[in-house]
Amino acid sequence: KELWQDVPLAPPDSIFKLTAAFKADTFEKKVNLGVGAYRDDNDKPWVLPVVQKASTHSLASQRVLSDTSLDHEYLPITGLALFTSAAANLILGASSPAIQEQRAVSVQTISGTGANHLAALFLSRFYKWNGAPQIYLSNPTWANHHAIFKNVGIEPVDYPYYDPKTIGLDFNGFIGALQNAPERSVFLLHACAHNPTGVDPTSEQWAAVADVMIAKKHYAFFDCAYQGFASGDLDKDAWAVRHFVEKGVALLVCQSFAKNAGLYGERVGALHVVSSNEETAGRVKSQLSVLQRSEISNPPTYGARVVSLILNDAQLFEEWKEDIRTMAGRIIAMRKELHRLLTEELKTPGNWDHIIEQIGMFRADRSGANERELQLHGNQWGAEQAAG
Ligand code: PLP
Repeated sequence: KELWQDVPLAPPDSIFKLTAAFKADTFEKKVNLGVGAYRDDNDKPWVLPVVQKASTHSLASQRVLSDTSLDHEYLPITGLALFTSAAANLILGASSPAIQEQRAVSVQTISGTGANHLAALFLSRFYKWNGAPQIYLSNPTWANHHAIFKNVGIEPVDYPYYDPKTIGLDFNGFIGALQNAPERSVFLLHACAHNPTGVDPTSEQWAAVADVMIAKKHYAFFDCAYQGFASGDLDKDAWAVRHFVEKGVALLVCQSFAKNAGLYGERVGALHVVSSNEETAGRVKSQLSVLQRSEISNPPTYGARVVSLILNDAQLFEEWKEDIRTMAGRIIAMRKELHRLLTEELKTPGNWDHIIEQIGMFRADRSGANERELQLHGNQWGAEQAAG
């Protein structure tokens, strides 16, 4: 018998398969609505001007990436400290009680996916409250969530989230699931710009979710892949996370700089675990270090250096915020334009308001479960593609 005879042939990842097919296609007006990456008016990837500057230009501080004194030594296991501490300030807020009281632990990860994985691995080892480990995932969610949790032996369970009838949030279903789940359940929450629906709770709804989570002692597993992309404002998009910290919900946050810094391939991210006190945070950090050591030894330098420069330099930080407003502004303008074309110009029957009510790069419609992305190419809307 051949050694790998029983290894079944797996289908290729649909998104990356689509990207390969897109690259191979010679059609002039081709459009790729698959992968969740920002494109400019020319349908091209956008290197943020601030990233270019941090990488190549001479700054007053001289701490640029072309600086020849930088070597290629290993980073510490938990990553570049200047990066992780600034990243924690960015999502939790510099005045967060978790930061002030030194009970937030931050570890640099392989972008958001790596943060999700490390967090899942940590929970699979140490979250021992409810028998067989489970995590509640919104229905629908980023398809990779299911695989990430299954990989470490955590069973994904759906909670109601999207309602195709209203093309909006099934708030009652969501709250009901929180109330009916056993105490100390783990709920994965998209911090903003929900993938794949573009449907986010309002701040009042988030507050109600936090209240139930406190009452039921649930654990919040925040995935934050789009800070700044939803509203164009980094602080606004961090509102839910910060509110939960203030209310004392036990939580962690997976943070990605792929989209908001346009550093997709550089794999820059962080995992922040907020504990109830500094002593616990120390123990959590020690175990995250042990897990990280066996998984990747230590994270990569380049992207963390870029983001660290931007976050720790007041001028670059302002420029980054401007770049984020450019990206978010374009996404919002595209939504408005599509809405205008459908309603005013084409007088398409039906109600299209969900297109401007949903936020971020994704949108859902009555069919619901598909993941769809918004990209306006020139002035034409391309066909939608299922994405993930
Ligand atoms: N979480 C969500 C909800 C996402 O949509 C994505 C990317 O599409 C990620 C995490 C992780 O992305 P990355 O690993 O590129 O940071």
